[in-house]
Amino acid sequence: MFLSRNSTGQIASRQHTDRTSGRRRQDSRGLRARKHIASSLTAVDRTLPNRALERRRHVGPMQRNLAQPARRLPERATPTVLVVAAHPDDEILGGGATYAKRLARGDRVHAVIMCEGESVRYAMQRRTVGQQEHARKAAETLGFTSFRCLMLPDQRLDACSQIDLNQKLEAILDELRPSIVYTHCPGDINRDHQVTHESVMVATRPGRDFICEVVGFETPSTTGLWNTHCFNPDTFTVVDDTLEKKLAAMACYETETNTFPHPRSIDSLRHRAHYWGNIIQQVAAEPFMTLRRIER
Ligand SMILES: [Zn+2]
Repeated sequence: MFLSRNSTGQIASRQHTDRTSGRRRQDSRGLRARKHIASSLTAVDRTLPNRALERRRHVGPMQRNLAQPARRLPERATPTVLVVAAHPDDEILGGGATYAKRLARGDRVHAVIMCEGESVRYAMQRRTVGQQEHARKAAETLGFTSFRCLMLPDQRLDACSQIDLNQKLEAILDELRPSIVYTHCPGDINRDHQVTHESVMVATRPGRDFICEVVGFETPSTTGLWNTHCFNPDTFTVVDDTLEKKLAAMACYETETNTFPHPRSIDSLRHRAHYWGNIIQQVAAEPFMTLRRIER
């Protein structure tokens, strides 16, 4: 608008002229706005009882400002989401269809797996099952923005120093700066899940202002087996469009999927999504528990 081809004085002069005329324009707009407020108040006053009419006649400057159009708040940035799961497959079992839905709408969703996932469970068979390769394929199928495994000892997470676990997660939080963190719900029967939950709750404690929400997911086959700890979801994500993507990602875990009616079978996971969906009168959904939410 103001090209700097002329001398500084000319530019300054044009800016001054514009400011002056701008102020005149603002003054005239303000006058018109005040007239409009006065006329609209008069119109409203006719329908108000007398006491309200008295109050309306003493409209102060603050109340006049309320009559101005609301200023539009800036759009929120695309959310960055972090999923922290104990074992390979937990990152899919709990909320895989929800993460796929978020990814489809442009969110960045990163996954972190704590344990390597097979040293204990398959040690008796003296074999490796390639879980890291399965996890990589599952992450590609679901479309995670990034995926990493911390390679901590499977089923022995409670033997690790809690402060070490917390610090590992804190470093990842500082690197990725997620606004939403998903992890295992409390009360799960698997000890690695419990330790992961506890560590996430500590690492995401208030102090990192970019974190707004910590959300708990269920893990079919280990959630809901205590009679003293219940999974009480307060959030349901409708996943009609992304359920099949979740199931395709889960099918990459050749050794972790079982046959129906095992809760980690593909058919059982589909039934489970329908069960949660039907609770909210939808076709399919995934349930979550709010663990902590800070509104700013
Ligand atoms: Zn697990």
